Amino acid sequence: MTTTTTEAATSPRRRASFRPLTIREVRPLTDNAVEVTFAIPDELTDDFNYVSGQYVALRTELEGKEVRRSYSICAEPTPGELRIAIKRDVGGLFSNWANDNLQAGHVIDVMSPTGAFISQHAMTALNDPEAMAQESIDSGLSRYVAFAAGSGITPVLAIAKALLARNPHAYLNLVYSNRAAMDVMFVEELADLKDRYPTRLAIHHLLSREQRLSPPTPVASMPTS
Ligand SMILES: Cc1cc2nc3c(=O)[nH]c(=O)nc-3n(C[C@H](O)[C@H](O)[C@H](O)COP(=O)(O)OP(=O)(O)OC[C@H]3O[C@@H](n4cnc5c(N)ncnc54)[C@H](O)[C@@H]3O)c2cc1C
Repeated sequence: MTTTTTEAATSPRRRASFRPLTIREVRPLTDNAVEVTFAIPDELTDDFNYVSGQYVALRTELEGKEVRRSYSICAEPTPGELRIAIKRDVGGLFSNWANDNLQAGHVIDVMSPTGAFISQHAMTALNDPEAMAQESIDSGLSRYVAFAAGSGITPVLAIAKALLARNPHAYLNLVYSNRAAMDVMFVEELADLKDRYPTRLAIHHLLSREQRLSPPTPVASMPTS
C-alpha cells in the first residue's frame, strides 16, 4: 500500500505523464456506453494514485492523427485498478471508436489522474491513510445535493460512494437526468448504493424524452428510489 496522500494526488506539482496501461475488462453499461477497467501495475501505483472525482486523459492515434480525450474516474480509489466510463457521442471520433474497439488485453496510453472536482470527504485509505485515522473528520451531520446528466454521473458516482462510506452522518440527494431509462448509466451500481444506504441516499431520475402513455409533460420523472 502506498503512503501518498490526497495532496499528492491533487498537487499541481505532480507531473502528468502518459503511460501505457493494459485494459483488464470492458463492460457494457448501456447500448451506448462501456466501463473500461485498467490494471495499474505496482510500479505505477504512485503515478496513478487518485481521488474520487478526478479524471484521466487517454491518447491514441485515429485516422492518422493523435487523439486525446478526458474521462472521469467512476469508482472509488481501489488498489491496482482504475475505472472510467465512455459514452458514445453522436458523430464523435474517440468515444465511438472506444465503444466499438476496446477490449480486455488492449494497451492504451493513459495520463496520470488530475483534476480538482473532488470532495474532501472522498478520501479513502488508498490516498490518505493518515486522514482516515483521524476520528474528528466527517463526524458532523452533513446534507449534500448532487446534480448529474448523462455521462456526467461518472465523477459524481465515485464521490457519492466515497462520501457515503466515509461519513456515516452524510445524507445525499442525487438528481440524475437522462433522455430515457435505457440511457441511464450505472443502473446496478446506483441501485446497490441505494440498498446499502436506504435512509441516507435518495436518487431522483429525470427522463426528458421517455415515451409515456399519459399526456406528455416537459420532464418525466421516475419514482424516487
Ligand atoms: C474533464 C472531463 C471529463 C470527462 N468525462 C467523461 C466521462 O466520464 N465519460 C464520457 O463519456 N465523456 C467524458 N468527457 C467527454 C469526453 O472527453 C469526450 O469529449 C467525448 O467522449 C467525445 O469525444 P469524441 O472524440 O467521441 O467526440 P469528438 O470527435 O470530439 O466530437 C464531439 C462532438 O462534436 C461533433 N463534431 C466533431 N467534429 C465536428 C465538426 N467538424 N463540425 C461539427 N460538429 C463536429 C461530434 O459530432 C460530436 O457530437 C469528459 C470531458 C472532460 C473535459
